[in-house]
Amino acid sequence: MSDTSLIRFEAVAPLRAQVAAWRAAGERVVLVPTMGALHAGHLALVARARELGRRTVASIFVNPTQFGPTEDFSRYPRDTETDLALLAEAGADAAYLPDVATMYPPGFSTRVEVDEVSQGLCGAFRPGHFSGVATVVTKLLNQVQPDIALFGEKDYQQLLVIRRAVRDLDLPVEIQGVPTLREADGLALSSRNRYLSPEERRAAPRLHAVLASIARGLAAGAEAGLLLAEGRAELEAAGFGPVQYLEVRDAETLAPVERADRPVRILAAAYLGRTRLIDNLAAVTP
Ligand code: AMP
Repeated sequence: MSDTSLIRFEAVAPLRAQVAAWRAAGERVVLVPTMGALHAGHLALVARARELGRRTVASIFVNPTQFGPTEDFSRYPRDTETDLALLAEAGADAAYLPDVATMYPPGFSTRVEVDEVSQGLCGAFRPGHFSGVATVVTKLLNQVQPDIALFGEKDYQQLLVIRRAVRDLDLPVEIQGVPTLREADGLALSSRNRYLSPEERRAAPRLHAVLASIARGLAAGAEAGLLLAEGRAELEAAGFGPVQYLEVRDAETLAPVERADRPVRILAAAYLGRTRLIDNLAAVTP
């Protein structure tokens, strides 16, 4: 049985006091930032946090500044009571649930912009998204002041953007990535999967299957351009469209890869009906 005593915070000062007390007692504090609508992928981050540190804080904040004007901010799933029960069950120590005025008080006018890794891929299709992410995560790190913060590899570009911001701004926290949790059929767990119709849900695992097949092709020495063209055609045949991107990039910098002579990542974003799915996979190259 997990300890179900989850402390709930909405304001910064009492949360900081609690975190300071834990740290003064020699306990490491791990932050897991989320937008709620929690699923087993989020809970895998909480489980990892519990392995790493004595105390786990999960934040839930649907961040308006990382959604574009035509995106799903208003319909993004919100179910705080269920989320809190799941966090308690998973053994988190605290939930931080700031409201919009706490994160963006009147007159708020500072943004964190990360160049290079924010450009291309999702950055090309979601203008302002990574600036919104980097800004809110910088605030969360400053508010909570954890020793470690965990982010899923599911959002691989986001993980690299945050690593870069933390490094560039000397934020005193260690960023760790956590492997993507998948359904048995390969579909990466995502809060947005609940938008899928039964038919779309049946097609959705093709995204991972295509990435896995490109990874196998690269490992066998096949040419990336050909594999990507075939993969795109396969996604479109399975009902995906538009396929926003399907690319092989440098795993560290996300720079386009001309020769597969270093660790690479295959990344994709594609619509299935009205739902935008993203996924990515590491690839070994010969
Ligand atoms: P979100 O609530 O979508 O902002 O996600 C919160 C955190 O959970 C992010 O660091 C995500 O990368 C991570 N995450 C989301 N889905 C998964 C998954 N299937 N496996 C591992 N981590 C995930």
